[in-house]
Amino acid sequence: LSERLGSIFDGLTGRGALSDKDVSEALREIRVALLEADVALPVVKDFVEKVRERAVGEEVIRSVKPGQQVIKIVYDALVDMLGSDEEENHLRVDTPPAVVMMAGLQGSGKTTTTGKIAKRLADRGKKKVLLASLDVRRPAAMEQLAILAKQAGETVSSLPIIPGQLPADIARRALQAAKIGGYDVLFLDTAGRTSIDEQMMSEAAEIAAIANPSEVLLVADALTGQDAVETARRFHERLPLTGLVLTRMDGDGRGGAALSMRAVTGLPIKFLGVGEKLDGLDAFDAKRVAGRILGQGDIISLVEKAAEHYDAEKAERMAAKLKKGEFDLEDLAEQLRQMQRMGGLGGIMGMMPGVRKAKEAMASSNIDDRVLKRQEAIISSMTRQERRKPALLNASRRKRIAAGAGVDVADVNKVLKMHQQMATMMKKMRTKGGMKNLMGMAQ
Ligand code: GDP
Ligand code: MG
Repeated sequence: LSERLGSIFDGLTGRGALSDKDVSEALREIRVALLEADVALPVVKDFVEKVRERAVGEEVIRSVKPGQQVIKIVYDALVDMLGSDEEENHLRVDTPPAVVMMAGLQGSGKTTTTGKIAKRLADRGKKKVLLASLDVRRPAAMEQLAILAKQAGETVSSLPIIPGQLPADIARRALQAAKIGGYDVLFLDTAGRTSIDEQMMSEAAEIAAIANPSEVLLVADALTGQDAVETARRFHERLPLTGLVLTRMDGDGRGGAALSMRAVTGLPIKFLGVGEKLDGLDAFDAKRVAGRILGQGDIISLVEKAAEHYDAEKAERMAAKLKKGEFDLEDLAEQLRQMQRMGGLGGIMGMMPGVRKAKEAMASSNIDDRVLKRQEAIISSMTRQERRKPALLNASRRKRIAAGAGVDVADVNKVLKMHQQMATMMKKMRTKGGMKNLMGMAQ
């Protein structure tokens, strides 16, 4: 693998920033990938536009193709959107008896997931768990839950079945039993329908009102793709949902439903169902799901490595130059780009205490992103030779550069002056021999 990486690092492209064209081309592919992964169309459109804004103008990592870099940007955006906040993704069952209500369409995996989470709580948290089925229409559903309770562990039990009771009554009885029995967690496994109907919704809403659950989980089949969005929207309208569980993530689907449902509801995804057995449950991992949706795991790790390598390489080069007391306009341009990326005055310069003065000089000239961009534009209107040897910049050259960048000659002069100040500072630091300590990287 490192050989493969090495050869890619050799193929330097040396381009500046990601262009509209690079980004658009890559995003066309991303769009297809997302749709193939079953992400709902409106979500895809929204997402792609957000990424476009983020990607255009981003500095090109020279060792990867622009398209690959866009994929990495897309991946990061996906992870963000799916919810990488682990705290939020945890199940909240702290105050006993904590009630977890399961909602969803019939066959989505509610009962199975109830058993799975119960087992997890029993195994890992040594919790005492009570399972109650509110599915009064299908006696077999109650039996199913009782069997799962037995399989889930010694500390898991199911509420005894009393035929003829209404769901709301079972819920009350279950709450009572959980309190008296000293249970940590009570699961209410509600009945689903094959499609959403008003009766199911009002029944579920009533139970939520009675039981005051700390979690209301919507269980959805990851393979239902587009339909999952509509399901999520409707349930979210009527129930105080707190989280999502996607089942059948062990199937061939790419899991786009996860993104759609998250986008529509904003709810955290708490678990993924990955099999029919009770241990087929994974904690949600945004990175894994993002990689799966994109189907581009290799490219992502490649670009991550390249970015690391690139930054380290740049820092080393900069340090070596500074050591020699060189600081030309190309270095300044690099600093300006870094500052933009870091959203202000920062970058390598920011790590060097001795450069504070120069930074203050820059700060006092009221630098914001636009100013940084303009300064960068001025430097890119110079020839390479001029950037390396600023002394070449006589009046007529300055005029040409100003015209090229669409600014006044005075602006060009300002940049040159700033560079001059910084270069002087560098020299001083060098003669004081402080470089080594200034930057850990200049060994
Ligand atoms: P419910 O009607 O919502 O309670 O759904 P069930 O829990 O009864 O599940 C319906 C079917 O889906 C059962 O055959 C389960 O074994 C199966 N199932 C549930 N979760 C998963 C999963 O994560 N992966 C797979 N492969 N099958 C699952
Ligand atoms: Mg069920």
